[in-house]
Amino acid sequence: MLHGYIPPHRFLPYLSWTDINALPDRENTVVVLPCGAIEQHGPHLPCSVDSVIASGVIGKALERLPSDVRAFAMPPITYGKSEEHLHFPGTMTLTGTTLLSTLVEIGESVYRSGFRKLLLANGHGGQPQVLEMAARELRLRHGDFVIVPFGVSRLPSAASRQVGEQEKKLAMHAGHSETALMLALAPDTVHMERAIANFPPAFPSKMLSSDGRPACAWVARDFGPTGIIGDPTTATREQGEEILDTLADSWVQALTELYQLQWAERPQATWGRSNETGFIQGSEQHVPTP
Ligand SMILES: [Zn+2]
Repeated sequence: MLHGYIPPHRFLPYLSWTDINALPDRENTVVVLPCGAIEQHGPHLPCSVDSVIASGVIGKALERLPSDVRAFAMPPITYGKSEEHLHFPGTMTLTGTTLLSTLVEIGESVYRSGFRKLLLANGHGGQPQVLEMAARELRLRHGDFVIVPFGVSRLPSAASRQVGEQEKKLAMHAGHSETALMLALAPDTVHMERAIANFPPAFPSKMLSSDGRPACAWVARDFGPTGIIGDPTTATREQGEEILDTLADSWVQALTELYQLQWAERPQATWGRSNETGFIQGSEQHVPTP
């Protein structure tokens, strides 16, 4: 069925339009859009990692969410902006502009359906900038829309306890945490016998990079032929289940707070790309929007 990792009673497109029209408290109901990617994750992981993790973490949180906290998930965006991995077969990338348009158009649809809180739950490290741009554009257009772009693995979890300093500082792709989470969420797709460690050189400017992560633009092939950037070799399923469990608890709290919070509203006409006229503070020339 289409819901995948999302519990069916929390999957928005399983409702009819009349069901959605009759939902109480739509303005506080949180709509979650998992944002993934289809891109190489080394020889030991499938290309679907970021889509699986974004949906899997949100699905686990929604399973645990108290029934009086109103939230639904949408089907994930499974294609993302993955140009840093396009030297490897299996990477299916959108351009940044295509992803930006997709996010804005889905966001507009969520708003048109009467919802006013949207979480863009990101599973792919190569696209937070695009999600932030989409969120800002939607906020420009609608002063009563709360859009939160946020990495699914950025909330507190057991992940940082499980790894050493080098992994914490330099792992960026297909390393310990992603491998452990995949062992918990989709173990049949993981091939641990092919896992190897591969780190980038420390960036040679202390001023520009105190932890050694590259301060310059990079693509995965810059760091060798495997596509791995980190050390997945010691990851276990138990560690993955511990990360999933702790991350899900953090997301239960975050979703509850997002459902409850009230945020500044801006009533004035706006300046989104679809409508490049509007209110200017202090100006007499208030241009009414069409
Ligand atoms: Zn990934």
